[in-house]
Amino acid sequence: MNDQTSYLDYNASAPLRPAVAEAMKNTMLLAGNPSSVHTYGRFARKQIDDARDLVATTVGADPTKLVFTSGGTEANNLALAGAGRTIRLVSGIEHDSVLAAAPEAVHIPVDQAGVVNTAALDELLAKQNEPALVSVMMANNETGVIQPLTEVISIAHNHNALVHCDAVQALGKLAIDMASLEIDLMTLSAHKIGGPKGIGALALRSNVEIEAQLVGGGQEGRRRAGTENVAAAVGFAEACVEIKKNENEIDRMLHLRNRFEELLRNQASNIEIFGHESPRLVNTCCLRLPGRTSETQVIALDLAGIAVSAGAACSSGKVTSSHVLTAMGVSPSAANESIRVSLGWATTENEIEHAADAWLELYNQTEDRPRRTTE
Ligand code: PLP
Repeated sequence: MNDQTSYLDYNASAPLRPAVAEAMKNTMLLAGNPSSVHTYGRFARKQIDDARDLVATTVGADPTKLVFTSGGTEANNLALAGAGRTIRLVSGIEHDSVLAAAPEAVHIPVDQAGVVNTAALDELLAKQNEPALVSVMMANNETGVIQPLTEVISIAHNHNALVHCDAVQALGKLAIDMASLEIDLMTLSAHKIGGPKGIGALALRSNVEIEAQLVGGGQEGRRRAGTENVAAAVGFAEACVEIKKNENEIDRMLHLRNRFEELLRNQASNIEIFGHESPRLVNTCCLRLPGRTSETQVIALDLAGIAVSAGAACSSGKVTSSHVLTAMGVSPSAANESIRVSLGWATTENEIEHAADAWLELYNQTEDRPRRTTE
């Protein structure tokens, strides 16, 4: 393996922030079940409650209506199954955990720029004979394309539909105010912002309720049974503190992502970057190299010490063609030549240059690459 390593797969999972590890270590060493009435239990309860307050206030949510879950996947499943709506409309670019939780759902189309078609949503909702649940993510995990949520919510509420929003990738990269956006249910996950893996949350608007899918004890306001993962909740809250404290990370990520794309464009002027014409998350670049499959690119870059991913379709370690790109009208063969580069809190200029060099080397070795007119 190369001496230099560059981790550019933050949309899959960000490295744990040192402050998070420290906070979690201290909590893990404490005994006590938050449901116990003794001093140990009450201390653990306070830790969970404080963590809940912190996570909720970071995103303008009501702390009394924030349910800790085992991650974004569980929060999406809880929202889709527990909101009490049998008619469900989900965008075609949602994460697998939304699509699989509502296999019969009506799919809201997206355009070639990766943006949900709000006129189509309005028409689809008008055809339903009972109030629906609409699920549209805040920003896409593969392309980074930011969705027109204000419009989605206004249309959905006009039809008495509830809106669930998967904000997993937006957290830490966009300012989120659930209350002013009037989102009814919102999914979060800690490990995309440098918190621990295995914890997330479903935040409910003050007037929205959910039916528990995990039943047993009365934890989480009877919305999710099971002893709470106190250390992970504390870690999630600490990661939220860190993103607030380091708001300048957003500008830094944007600068580095733009620098990466500029370095590529200097040599590969007609490079295809999916969703670049839309508002995008500051940290994400989904790009295509004609003539090389996603898998070969990921492996070649890995050999050069660079970690990227072949879109989101590698959750089982198996690379399949991206449903996000195909929903945008990209042909399956072009989708199979795409990779996702995603940056985060610890990314350096050096890593960006390393990745750009390695990608350009691959590009220059590729027979089918689009030639510049001067070549
Ligand atoms: N939603 C989106 C948009 C994601 O990108 C992910 C993770 O890749 C998830 C949900 C699932 O979150 P978790 O890994 O916490 O289950």
